Amino acid sequence: MKNPIYVTKPFLPKKKTLNMYINEIYLSRRLTNHGTLVRELEQKLKEYFQAKNVILVANGTLALQIAYKSMNIKGKAITTPFSFVATTSSLVWEGIKPIFADIDPKKLTIDPEKIRKAIDPTVTGIVPVHVYGNACDIERIKEISDEYGLNVVYDAAHAFGVKYRGKNILNYGDASIISFHATKLFHTIEGGAIVTQNDDIAHRARLMRDFGIADIDKVEDIGINAKMNEFEAAMGLSILGQVGKIIAKRKAVWREYHDLLDGYVEFPELTEGVEWNYSYVPILLKDESQLLKLVKVLEEKAIYPRRYFYPSLDTLPYITERHNSPISRNISERVLCLPTYSEISTEEVDNIARTIKMEVRS
Ligand SMILES: *Cc1c(COP(=O)(O)O)cnc(C)c1O
Repeated sequence: MKNPIYVTKPFLPKKKTLNMYINEIYLSRRLTNHGTLVRELEQKLKEYFQAKNVILVANGTLALQIAYKSMNIKGKAITTPFSFVATTSSLVWEGIKPIFADIDPKKLTIDPEKIRKAIDPTVTGIVPVHVYGNACDIERIKEISDEYGLNVVYDAAHAFGVKYRGKNILNYGDASIISFHATKLFHTIEGGAIVTQNDDIAHRARLMRDFGIADIDKVEDIGINAKMNEFEAAMGLSILGQVGKIIAKRKAVWREYHDLLDGYVEFPELTEGVEWNYSYVPILLKDESQLLKLVKVLEEKAIYPRRYFYPSLDTLPYITERHNSPISRNISERVLCLPTYSEISTEEVDNIARTIKMEVRS
């Protein structure tokens, strides 16, 4: 049996590079609590994102939770039903009721007109997602949030290295969060960050990730433990220099799939003004039955794409209020993410694309 091909494979840096940082940890004996490596990574990411404040945390989900709390989002928040489950579950976990606004059928990001329609006096925030790294309609979301005085937290978990109108995409909204989970384009094994231009939000988020402790013997605010550790920072520092290469490879993989499959399956549209990171290869099939047949054929060849994102989040068992997100439900039934990672070969991509072509033609 051939080696299985999964939707992704975590990137690993050269052992020599990683060891250099691990040796530093052995010398300092500082394993966590904002050691030198976490601080170094925070500084380097600040430069990379061209951001005023970068707060590293233990994962992207905690980044969302802390972001909501740091700007007092409560009551209800408007969000997209088409995302990874953490976008919704983090809201519910914080006692905030998610209200779903349906998506644009081509770009797959939240539809600003549907946000406007969902606003009522108990809504305090908007949590849109730059899904697959594609930008939301940032200008119109800003207009709406300004008009109603709502806070905006962008879930930019997929958007490492993405630029929008020449600026790193993490610099929009009141805050953006990003995930550095092992399966993401850039990772720290587990990890994430809150990025914000607002110093007050940054100050609260920094306290909150560390139990609310401001200084020895001084607790200033409610907090939780969301600290990144030194080993995770070592992984991040070892990978950061490789990000250019990682994105270039994903771009080449996406191009190859696109060249072979254009006209046979649908590719989501990119938003104008985006410099994309090619982090995922989502394709849309005709319907769910075509998708399920295709998945079966690929699995017989030990190829495992993933149904990112299925199911539509408005259908989660703990969402009791009925929502009407027909576009998200339809898309989630027929979207599939194809394998992409640094070691995938042109032959493998070619083989996957040919299999899909055969299947959708029949
Ligand atoms: C991965 C992801 C998260 C959660 O990040 P973790 O680091 O895994 O906690 C949140 N939102 C989206 C859209 C994601 O893809």
